[in-house]
Amino acid sequence: MAAKSDSVARAAWQELLEPLRAEPTRAAILTDFDGTLSPIVERAEDAALPDGAREILEALVDLYALVGAVSGRRAADVRARVGLDGVAYAGNHGLELMMPGEDEPSADPSLDGREGDAAEFIAGVAAERFAGSGLRVEDKGPIQAIHWRGAPDDAVAEAAARQIAVDAGRAGLEPRFGRKVLELRPVGGGGKDAAVASLLAGDGIDRVVFAGDDRTDVDAFRRLGELREAGELVAAVRVGVLSAEGPPEIAEEADLTVEGPPGWLEMLAWLAE
Ligand SMILES: [Mg+2]
Repeated sequence: MAAKSDSVARAAWQELLEPLRAEPTRAAILTDFDGTLSPIVERAEDAALPDGAREILEALVDLYALVGAVSGRRAADVRARVGLDGVAYAGNHGLELMMPGEDEPSADPSLDGREGDAAEFIAGVAAERFAGSGLRVEDKGPIQAIHWRGAPDDAVAEAAARQIAVDAGRAGLEPRFGRKVLELRPVGGGGKDAAVASLLAGDGIDRVVFAGDDRTDVDAFRRLGELREAGELVAAVRVGVLSAEGPPEIAEEADLTVEGPPGWLEMLAWLAE
């Protein structure tokens, strides 16, 4: 029975993705990195592509108009992990953009002098508020990320992060929660919605698939839905990558869902055939 329902599910997603495979030179393949391409690991610095994924991405780069990684990591960090120059990298949730072949990311001009606001806020928050609650700060330039994966007590750490989010909001920053992470950024800067729109601009791309597993990916889902509604895209397939800790909006707002990175890689492999 399982085999039959698997083949029915496979036929359903293949039908949605067929417009991309039919016209690859007009199609973009966009993907989040952590939890979508690469499995979530205890320490974010250990995240890596699963076996075989780089070869699939390389084949996609040869076939499709654009392959892009859209991540909360710095653009250069994602590029080092993916290891392919032919991929476009939108980093820091869209605040940085590195197109294929570029060595330096261009910064989102909307930041305009507010690049250091989040770091300044963090410097003003007493160090014991982090250490005492198991929170770790990651300096990502204009975005400061506060992580609690691996904290001694998840609930204590998350409660402390929620208080910091309130203070950050009062200080004029935009707090965004993800999977065991709080990110503080300048208000109105970037967003994965803006990132996917920049990646799709020009080049005659009118069909796209985007996969993600977390809240900031839902911003991209919504923008792609709007572009499809407006007739600017003939196909926009939003793939929700499910996990036990992912937010419910991922399943609610996706066109398709898959179980973890292996499910998404299976789709990418089919697109690369
Ligand atoms: Mg993710």
